[in-house]
Amino acid sequence: SPIIMWFRRDLRLGDHPALTAACENGRPVIPVFIFDELVDGLGAAPKFRFGLSVGDLARELSSRGSRLVLRKGRAIDVLTDLIRETGATEVHWSRAYDPDAKDRDTTIKAALKEAGISAVSHPGHVLFEPWTVETKTGGFYRVFTPMWKSVRNTEVSACLPEPDLIPAPNAWPDSDDLTLLNMSKDMRRGAEIVHQHCVVGQTAAADRLSEFIETRIARYSDDRDFPGVKATSGLSENLTYGEISPRQCWHAGWEAFRQGHDQAEVFLKELVWREFAYHLVFHTPHIVSRNWREEWDRFPWNTDEAHPHVVAWKQGRTGIPFVDAAMREMYVTGVMHNRSRMIVASYLTKNLMSHWKIGERWFADCLIDWDPASNAMGWQWAAGSGPDAAPYFRVFNPVTQLDKFDRDGVYQKSWIAEGYGQPSDTALSYFDAVPKHWRLSPANTYPSPLVTPEAGRARALEAYATREKVK
Ligand code: FAD
Repeated sequence: SPIIMWFRRDLRLGDHPALTAACENGRPVIPVFIFDELVDGLGAAPKFRFGLSVGDLARELSSRGSRLVLRKGRAIDVLTDLIRETGATEVHWSRAYDPDAKDRDTTIKAALKEAGISAVSHPGHVLFEPWTVETKTGGFYRVFTPMWKSVRNTEVSACLPEPDLIPAPNAWPDSDDLTLLNMSKDMRRGAEIVHQHCVVGQTAAADRLSEFIETRIARYSDDRDFPGVKATSGLSENLTYGEISPRQCWHAGWEAFRQGHDQAEVFLKELVWREFAYHLVFHTPHIVSRNWREEWDRFPWNTDEAHPHVVAWKQGRTGIPFVDAAMREMYVTGVMHNRSRMIVASYLTKNLMSHWKIGERWFADCLIDWDPASNAMGWQWAAGSGPDAAPYFRVFNPVTQLDKFDRDGVYQKSWIAEGYGQPSDTALSYFDAVPKHWRLSPANTYPSPLVTPEAGRARALEAYATREKVK
């Protein structure tokens, strides 16, 4: 009887424990992707990007004599139908750790078990399963550095090769058409502009990793904080859909380190930040929806999404060049440099005193590398409400930060058109990407600051001091 391989955020064929297990004993394998309510509920850009990745996996499978069966509906209904249609007796998938996916998978596992079907979940999306890393006193890490120290020298098993053969069934079940699933339907901005910046699929991801190791890892720690410099790997986009495994990145990073590139260690450390996020989401799932530290529930954050300050922040016209450049970069490319993410998050939650949830949701709509764990942790870190967070009173000054991290103005010029005689193509492409009703034009005068860094900082600190008194 056939085996169903349910692909989710693991859209690759190499180093794939679930796929390897499904192919192990030569029984026919039916790869399936389900467009369920969790996929449908994604923000516009991640859903669009997910669709590109699904298309790539379908092509990769076809070139190996297999197929990707696409179905739309509740995952349990789709799986039940497929089991009935094909006589499959086993379902394999790669484990997910965010609360929505975890709840769905737990229910499905129980239902399949009751129906006499074996449902097997596998590792692969993280390096270290969240229940395997413990502090000395037991329990999970709430602070990053000790976790890094504890896992740094852990033996990580070797990557698995791609299965030699993905045995095909005699007859294939029906499949929906990817274009009909219309995963780009929520993109109200120039999807084709964002598309130009996407690097899609397992082959492109592997090339990206090799290129990064060959050309940039040696200077990674020196250059990684400069948003105008291409210094980082760009792999978050691929890791989030599982086009590459964290283990492939980890071993490549270690190899570079062993070859004498000391700065590779910082790259390995960043991969562990991703692990930290997943461990937190697993052990404290409320991190994705509520203040991780409850005392922040009393903080007087603005929660009105329609507030003109919030609207200006989203549209990249706060009058603060670092913030606006970053927000525009995200709108056009679907990604934003890590330093820029910290700056815009600090500006929203501190200078504009608006709730981190507003920013977290906007990122979830705009980022092609949106990740349930890293995004939630990043926002709570920036707002001060999370574990191992930047303290609220440490407010980034976006003006001095731009002087420091964009000394020659490359980043600013890449994303701001107003006021430049010959704006850059990327800066202009922002105006092609935005919806008409935003009424933005490169001919406009660049706005003066909505809230100056000094005034915003003073107001935020005042609110923080008052909150302390309430406590
Ligand atoms: P590199 O510098 O090449 O790092 C390698 C990998 O390490 C990354 O691909 C990523 O998987 C991981 N990593 C690096 N920094 C972090 C970090 N701070 N936290 C967790 N993992 C990290 N990352 C996402 O993948 N998706 C998100 O939705 C996301 N939202 C964020 C929101 C905020 C407010 C902040 C401050 C950070 C967020 N990050 C998010 C983390 C980080 O900004 C990105 O992972 C990084 O910019 C990706 O670029 P890169 O792949 O070139 O990273």
